[in-house]
Amino acid sequence: MDIARLIYNSRSLEHCDTREINKILECSERLNASCGVTGILYFSNNNFLQYLEGEEADVARTYERITQDNRHTDIQLVDKSTIQNRQFSDWAMAYVPESDKIAPILEKHMDGKAFNPQAMSTPSTLELIFELRTLLPKAHYDTQNQ
Ligand code: FAD
Repeated sequence: MDIARLIYNSRSLEHCDTREINKILECSERLNASCGVTGILYFSNNNFLQYLEGEEADVARTYERITQDNRHTDIQLVDKSTIQNRQFSDWAMAYVPESDKIAPILEKHMDGKAFNPQAMSTPSTLELIFELRTLLPKAHYDTQNQ
């Protein structure tokens, strides 16, 4: 069965500390688990990057709610497509906190500049997402469907 994939980036409107991120994650995990949406969220330098996957209508409804959220702005849709298999089936919403392991990954994609997903190409964004996935505690690596 085909799975809908949606990737967007946005800019945080408030100072987003760990507490705020945790609130977003708690809500995301609860609502995503109830409708079978999975994915990953990354936050750095005041920018969000999120990957959602699931049934098309569920992903669309989730994205619609996210776009109404006044905690972020400048929401830019990066990719909306169909994939064969989920890439984040273990996570209602995975999150990769900042760590030394991320620095070399960002360095490669941002050419040494601060994280700015709006300046990244779609292939580079996808590559970054799958590199972040390797930092998650466990995963199904299905590279054929990237
Ligand atoms: P309500 O809970 O009724 O909230 C209405 C509005 O109040 C929201 O749009 C927001 O502007 C504001 N609000 C809600 N909670 C808070 C809070 N704790 N602090 C400040 N303002 C608040 N939801 C998902 O279901 N799945 C996701 O994967 C997901 N990812 C997100 C990623 C980001 C970067 C952000 C900012 C939010 C994300 N959310 C996600 C949350 C989503 O935007 C909605 O808040 C949530 O889905 C509940 O929707 P609702 O219409 O019931 O909103």
